[in-house]
Amino acid sequence: MKKHRLHSNTSSEPPAKKGHWALGLVDSMKDPELLVEDDDKVVVIKDKFPKAEFHYLVLPKEDIPSILTVRKEHEDLLKHMESVGTNLAAKHPHREFQLGYHSVPNMQRLHLHVISTDFNSTCLKTKVHWNSYTSPFFRSSQDIRRELNENGKIKKMSCEECDAYLKGPLKCHKCSTIPKNMPDLKRHILSHIKN
Ligand code: AMP
Ligand code: ZN
Repeated sequence: MKKHRLHSNTSSEPPAKKGHWALGLVDSMKDPELLVEDDDKVVVIKDKFPKAEFHYLVLPKEDIPSILTVRKEHEDLLKHMESVGTNLAAKHPHREFQLGYHSVPNMQRLHLHVISTDFNSTCLKTKVHWNSYTSPFFRSSQDIRRELNENGKIKKMSCEECDAYLKGPLKCHKCSTIPKNMPDLKRHILSHIKN
């Protein structure tokens, strides 16, 4: 099966070696240009390739590779990450936000996406980008915390299921419109932005 980067693997493959692209977030956590805030447990950075007008990543200082390696002992940390994300989103009262995780992330170091649902960004280019935020491939922070609480870990989505979501048809996330293609979708979603 062809692997596309949005679901290459961050749990069952060996850890990426120093300098590997998958480790870019760890470098970015130290980049003053991207840093938004930090505390004793987490760092918040701006996503380097934002897929919306506001797109932040909340990362733990502890070296946790991904949601696929979190365990019961990380429950409080995930709750804290969500609370940091919620407070950040509240600073943009004119926008709706979604807080969550890609089912199978690309980049190493656990990261919570805090993203405004305008999805109005030149970096959002492909159907896979769109579907990764607007299909069940994107798992809300609350849903991940519930699964962790119930099962003590997060079950990995199968490649078949990932493909079905990521390559599925384009749909508007706010109404029943079925855009013909990405340019059509990108035009359409502007109609949902309230300024
Ligand atoms: P995921 O698919 O959940 O692993 O998402 C990784 C996110 O990291 C994407 O939204 C990328 O745009 C973003 N990203 C990739 N490389 C970097 C980097 N070096 N610094 C900051 N953000 C990055
Ligand atoms: Zn719509």
